[in-house]
Amino acid sequence: MIDLRSMEYDELESFLIESGEPKYRAKQIFSWLMQGVDSFDEMTNVSKKTREMLMGKSYISKLTIREKYTSKLDGTIKYLFALDDGNCIETVVMRYHHGISVCISSQVGCRMGCGFCASTIGGLYRSLTAGEILNQVIYAQKDIKERISNIVMMGIGEPLDNYDNVLKFLHNVNHPYGLNIGYRHISLSTCGIVDKIYRLADENLPITLSVSLHAPNNKIRDGIMPINHKYKIEELMEACRVYIKKTARRISFEYSLISGVNDSIENAEELAGLLHGMLCHINLIPVNHVEERDYHKSKNYDIKKFQEKLIQLGMNATVRRELGADISASCGQLRKKLL
Ligand code: SAH
Repeated sequence: MIDLRSMEYDELESFLIESGEPKYRAKQIFSWLMQGVDSFDEMTNVSKKTREMLMGKSYISKLTIREKYTSKLDGTIKYLFALDDGNCIETVVMRYHHGISVCISSQVGCRMGCGFCASTIGGLYRSLTAGEILNQVIYAQKDIKERISNIVMMGIGEPLDNYDNVLKFLHNVNHPYGLNIGYRHISLSTCGIVDKIYRLADENLPITLSVSLHAPNNKIRDGIMPINHKYKIEELMEACRVYIKKTARRISFEYSLISGVNDSIENAEELAGLLHGMLCHINLIPVNHVEERDYHKSKNYDIKKFQEKLIQLGMNATVRRELGADISASCGQLRKKLL
């Protein structure tokens, strides 16, 4: 049985034609799927015969809201969604002046092992299908009854470790017959899987690439991000330069400030040197607390000094506002929970 929500539009069209349906059915069915129907019976403009055919050959993947928390501080919503196999993932909805953003997961767990992140504790269970990634946007939108305009792939998992499904998802979420969310309103964050950054550069998608850098040199990065043993900072920077050249898009570098680890003035100077001349923006994130980890947020004074030093050296650097602090919905705090 195939999941209709994991199929790209063209695949759906071929599948329907092979099943003896007219081509225009694809548009009807695709748009029902994207509106968040749970069953074939809800597709009211599709004949009973076609619905029975679909039921015999395919299914529609679903998400069930297991828990929903709303922040009293800023209205951020965190969902614990159960997948059809009982595994759970977290998805976060955030309100900004420019619209509503959803932060989605790409895997159940993560195998990247970053020392400061909750999502990787317990390792990787499995990657999400294209439909399961998409469903987070569909079901969150259905629940809040408002249009989601922006997507950040910054939830649980490493998107570039689930490359093919993430690509399918991007095509589907952008499709004009579906949610029609523009690529420029989508950010994808990676810990720096270099060969996949090169591949992504060739896809010609004007999304925003965020790179989780968190250190200005190999010594510090080796200590907090295992991926750095595989791809050194120099290789990562070269891939980023090629990405910028090919796409003409600015990269956003994420830098979590961890007290005593990567937050000195010398670190700021070294970071500015590393990124000098690149079309980029630096997103400073005071590290969020994760119970099992012994990393602490930098002091406000040190954060300010770090940012000022970067700006003084000609860099574009902002401090990310923390949302959903009272419901553990901030960066690095999302984790899978098994039933
Ligand atoms: N695997 C991808 C997607 C996760 S995005 C990636 O690594 O980019 C989540 C962002 O939050 C990443 O930049 C990640 O490094 C950062 N992060 C993880 N744990 C954090 C923590 N405890 N505090 C602040 N940021 C954290």
